[in-house]
Amino acid sequence: MKIHNFSAGPCILPQEVFQKSAAAILDLNGTGLSILEISHRSPDFVAIMEESRSLAIELLDLEGKGYHALFLQGGASMEFLRVPYNFLSRKSAYLDTGTWADLAIKEANRFGETDTVASSKDQKYTYIPTDFTIPADADYFHCTSNNTIFGTQMKTFPITDVPMVCDMSSDIFSRKIDFSQFDLIYAGAQKNLGPAGVTLVVIKDSFLKMTSKTDIPPIMDYRKHVEKESMYNTPAVFAVYTSLLTMKWLKANGGILAMEQINNAKAELLYNEIDRNPFFSGTSNIPDRSAMNATFVLNDVAMTQDFDLMWKAAGISGLVGHRSVGGYRASMYNAMPLESVQILVDVMKEFELKR
Ligand SMILES: *Cc1c(COP(=O)(O)O)cnc(C)c1O
Repeated sequence: MKIHNFSAGPCILPQEVFQKSAAAILDLNGTGLSILEISHRSPDFVAIMEESRSLAIELLDLEGKGYHALFLQGGASMEFLRVPYNFLSRKSAYLDTGTWADLAIKEANRFGETDTVASSKDQKYTYIPTDFTIPADADYFHCTSNNTIFGTQMKTFPITDVPMVCDMSSDIFSRKIDFSQFDLIYAGAQKNLGPAGVTLVVIKDSFLKMTSKTDIPPIMDYRKHVEKESMYNTPAVFAVYTSLLTMKWLKANGGILAMEQINNAKAELLYNEIDRNPFFSGTSNIPDRSAMNATFVLNDVAMTQDFDLMWKAAGISGLVGHRSVGGYRASMYNAMPLESVQILVDVMKEFELKR
């Protein structure tokens, strides 16, 4: 039976990417060597790293705009720490839109004054605050473009002279944004880009030059990683290669704009059903709903077992909500076809008819 994987991360990647990365484990590009055994300093891997870095910049439409792309380790969680390590000297400003933003704030607190400009914690992170001011003397402003756990997404970003840093872990490459409004973007790969183990960091050269800190350990120092072209230490070779395959798939399938159209169609299909079906309710504020992670609940929790049996029987996997919030969460990343969302909607309709 075909499995429809709605898991939030690690998550679905294109089948073609699985096939090609599996083949590279046995033989990378006819070298007779596995991607897992070649030296990361070999010409074959150096070429993979170079292509990954330049393709990320190309897809984000940042070519010629003074940005560097890095593939680092430690997950997005490491960037929660690296960002203030490198850039927080006086004061930072954070928008608190969910669990991940909150964790980022906690790391920043280790390095200096952190101003939480607004928070939706009072409403269980079900909306995106819009009424806030960014202090003009902040070293940077940090936001989270998509709130993976609660299913909200920033549709617009503030206009400010303060450098903007954005955690785009769960919606990078999913929609057209003017990426050049950000000075630093990071994304743990395992949501929409590749396997766990690597984080894409895109950093503007002018921002990099703004840090005057001299006591940053090299592994934490963005300047060191840029200088070493993302090869300061052994990169996560397989995760980088698989991310490259995903980016190539994305480009061949029309790039970000084409992804956005399909992603919007998937989200519309599912949210329409959540709103129409009397047995279900969406949990996030409608204008702030995420096109990547749709969160919803059964109105009568006593029906949980019946519904769970039905979607599992239809080949659906990974539909459960985050352990901190419960309910259901359908993650519909780039690689998920519309057909899989249709299967879920059909199950919801069938559930309604059976009751
Ligand atoms: C998953 C996630 C993280 C944490 O990523 P790790 O790679 O596990 O550290 C951070 N931010 C967002 C928005 C996420 O979705």
